[in-house]
Amino acid sequence: MSDLLDLSAVEARAALDAKSISATELTTAYIAAAEETAALNNYVLLTPDHALAMAAKADARLAKGEAGLLEGVPLGVKDLFCTNGVQTTACSRILDGFTPPYESTVTANLWDAGAVMIGKLNCDEFAMGSANETSAFGPAISPWQGADKTDLVPGGSSGGSASAVAARSALMTTGTDTGGSIRQPAAFCGVVGLKPTYGRCSRWGIVAFASSLDQAGPITRDVADNALMLQAMASHDARDSTSSDVPLQDVVAAVRQGVKGMKIGVPREYVMDGMDGDVVALWQQGQDWLRQAGAELVDVSLPHTKYALPTYYIIAPAEASSNLARYDGVRYGLRVEAGSLDEMYEATRAVGFGEEVQRRILVGTYVLSAGYYDAYYLKAQKVRRLIKQDFDTAFASVDALLTPATPTAAFPVGRKIDDPVVNFLNDVFTVPANLAGLPGLSVPAGLNADGLPLGLQVLGRPYDEASLYRVGGVLEAAASFTATPARRAGGAK
Ligand code: GLN
Repeated sequence: MSDLLDLSAVEARAALDAKSISATELTTAYIAAAEETAALNNYVLLTPDHALAMAAKADARLAKGEAGLLEGVPLGVKDLFCTNGVQTTACSRILDGFTPPYESTVTANLWDAGAVMIGKLNCDEFAMGSANETSAFGPAISPWQGADKTDLVPGGSSGGSASAVAARSALMTTGTDTGGSIRQPAAFCGVVGLKPTYGRCSRWGIVAFASSLDQAGPITRDVADNALMLQAMASHDARDSTSSDVPLQDVVAAVRQGVKGMKIGVPREYVMDGMDGDVVALWQQGQDWLRQAGAELVDVSLPHTKYALPTYYIIAPAEASSNLARYDGVRYGLRVEAGSLDEMYEATRAVGFGEEVQRRILVGTYVLSAGYYDAYYLKAQKVRRLIKQDFDTAFASVDALLTPATPTAAFPVGRKIDDPVVNFLNDVFTVPANLAGLPGLSVPAGLNADGLPLGLQVLGRPYDEASLYRVGGVLEAAASFTATPARRAGGAK
């Protein structure tokens, strides 16, 4: 069985086409893998019957030579994507018992491409968090372990998604990224994560957090799998007014294209107090790898970087407070009965939303309230424009930017922090790309002194995912990151 789990998605596709394995065999192996690694709490729902039915259909199409891009590939879905007839909770109590009567565009695209759904994956409640610790289902755990075998967070909010790929309980997974929720968990778990350009993947049918920042993307074992999955996920969708019709480049070919002649910027502001020395060293190493592969490395400045986090933590909660107003105990999921209608709203929302979500709603409502709107929300929108302009200026002279993905490696589950701002600092390198709508790729590139994965981030121009994969392909080859976590399926428990 572990042989089947060793295959990347690209390799599995070749083996499926060659009929040396079947989709049913592969799916059976992944269902078993998900059960074997259940202690990691990656999945909030396994859908084995569904998966085997989909695999049987994939096998039938393979037999007829009608295979789609992801035909027969076992895939896990972050529980933020609505799946027709399958419970969708956003890992919040307030969506208890909610079964959507529709399918998100992204997941529909994946099923159209022949992928097989193994189950729904754990995440932070409404995707708010950086450690997967705000989930109503309890924390997802990384398959990597700290000193003395301590449990580590997989990152968040797409923690279950990144952990499952690293633990080999899904061959690929969907994530969403509002401020780093694909790239940061990918970096923590030693896997590849892409936040596409805003508008590249439809937001239709994805539970909304902050609509001007949210973007779905692929989390995979390697860069080639990532490009393949993006190709299947991305589409223009009239049901999302911000969906783009700019055609996707040949991203699969880009992975092997190399970086000869590319100009790659190194933003000097991407440093902060408390940054791990190993992260700084890896960033330097990444620059050397790209130079050796024929790229020109250029020092660039993004002067408004220091305002990105405060700007994000005004805009994201503002949009969240508005998006989450719909959970009123009437239309979806949980209802806590009480005397009057107002009391029912209050009781439902008090019980249904966790602490972090309530904090965001309070902050968001505050910054949007009359009297504070101009001072906070409007000001943040203006600063957002300046941050975008910094990138426009940089991309006038460079093709991509290289930065660390996160300031440190993963930290222990349950780390006690009284100040929520400490958690917010995790997103310092990832948030600017969301504010500017740019694509960002996180590639595992090394280990820190404790043997934990570290990622490098590549940022690019809007709709230029191809350049990210060119750089990512070179970094992956140079780093030859082969380390695997202890707690993976087919490995130690
Ligand atoms: N960690 C950030 C937050 O808590 C980003 C989350 C995300 O990208 N969904 O808002």
